Amino acid sequence: MAYDLLISNGTVVTADAVYPADVAIAAGAIAAILPSGSRADAAQIRDAADCYVIPGAIDAHLHQSMRTAAGLTVDDWQTGSTAAALGGTTTVVDFVDALPGQSLTDALAARLEQARPAVVDYGLHMSIQPDIDPGPTGYMRRVSETRIRQMRDAFDSGCASFKMYMAYAGNQLSDADLFRALREVADLGALACVHVENGDVIETLRQLAGTDLAWVSRKENPPVNGLGAGILHALTRPPESEREAVIRAMTAAELTGARMLIFHMGCASATEALGAARARGVDFIWGETCPQYLVLTDDCLRREDGRLWMCSPPLRPQADQDAMWKLVSNRTIDLISSDHCPFNQTQKALGINDFRKVPNGVPGVETRLSLIHHFGVRRGRIDLQDWVRLCCARPAEMHALPMKGHIAPGADADVVIFDPGLSKPLSAGELHSALDWSAYDGITVDGWPRDVISRGELIVRDGRFVGQPGRGRFIRRSP
Ligand SMILES: [Zn+2]
Repeated sequence: MAYDLLISNGTVVTADAVYPADVAIAAGAIAAILPSGSRADAAQIRDAADCYVIPGAIDAHLHQSMRTAAGLTVDDWQTGSTAAALGGTTTVVDFVDALPGQSLTDALAARLEQARPAVVDYGLHMSIQPDIDPGPTGYMRRVSETRIRQMRDAFDSGCASFKMYMAYAGNQLSDADLFRALREVADLGALACVHVENGDVIETLRQLAGTDLAWVSRKENPPVNGLGAGILHALTRPPESEREAVIRAMTAAELTGARMLIFHMGCASATEALGAARARGVDFIWGETCPQYLVLTDDCLRREDGRLWMCSPPLRPQADQDAMWKLVSNRTIDLISSDHCPFNQTQKALGINDFRKVPNGVPGVETRLSLIHHFGVRRGRIDLQDWVRLCCARPAEMHALPMKGHIAPGADADVVIFDPGLSKPLSAGELHSALDWSAYDGITVDGWPRDVISRGELIVRDGRFVGQPGRGRFIRRSP
């Protein structure tokens, strides 16, 4: 039989095994795993000698063209997904944020229209945000019963996961609303993806920074010299406010039986609380981390341009980073996503004199896979199979993407030929986001994707993007 494409002489790496093999592809799917050097008949052959052949990576947390007070995030679906592809990611899961008064399914339809230029396959999480204003005495907006009822429509339309926020004015859910939404998640058998920080404490600390800066920054040495200091972002989102919220979120999940993924964990004490729950047998709550928490520290926030590195939850000290690698290798953390949320230098400069006006987010969709290879595998913190488990296999399982994340006959032919011998400086000029800065400037990683195949089609060849905008498909996910 003649195959469409043969990847020959490579080392196949999956979450379970590392072995030499040829991978044969036909009709967009993996057709066969053959002995290395098979010389099987194929219309096209890519030699992968000295390279790893891994499943296309899955990034289940990124924000393309997201509406914020500082304008849209700068990557749209085309630039964002092209950067993803060049970094070895063949599936992304972004978000739908409905406007107040707009139904969840109408918001989904509008978002799908916006996603048309995507170059890789994609899914969508549905955000559950407050949609009704408080009465004269209330201080927090609430989630309506209509919203809760609409969750089933969103679920039936392919949104298998719901995003909820425990912080951020405008997005924050009260404990009561979190409970109500989680009950519906449990009923549907869906997954809750939760931004976990104590929003009330954080909001209070942010206001205090304006009236009693000396108290808010009392632990910082040398003292901060004004409200423009980036480190204030971390000082007003202390580890205690994250740990407490993790325990509260997990309690709500246990009360309702909702399956929960705690997003972007980078705080050691908060993640250890998750580890303690897992140790006592809780097997339906999981943790995600992101490369920024494994590679960077809060020293970035102390720079003159520290506002660029403001993301939430904030970067933490070196001790947290060291502990997070242990929590990754002992499987307290299940998966690694990017939380790619690109704001340019002009948008970040909105808060040059007041950290509270800086839009929160750092980029990372293109660099995630290689950063985890470089700082994880090459530094001996995790092995090759862990790398594939964290970036490909577990995200596929967690986010209901059964055709993705593994190399086996019948699976979608989403495959990356990763060359561990390629060096890549991570400066903005070398990357393909629409962003005008890089969070990893000055770092050169060893190992980079050479070829990327999506549903059997070569979309990155020798490090160059050769795919077509609009070829990505929406994946209706169902657990
Ligand atoms: Zn995010």
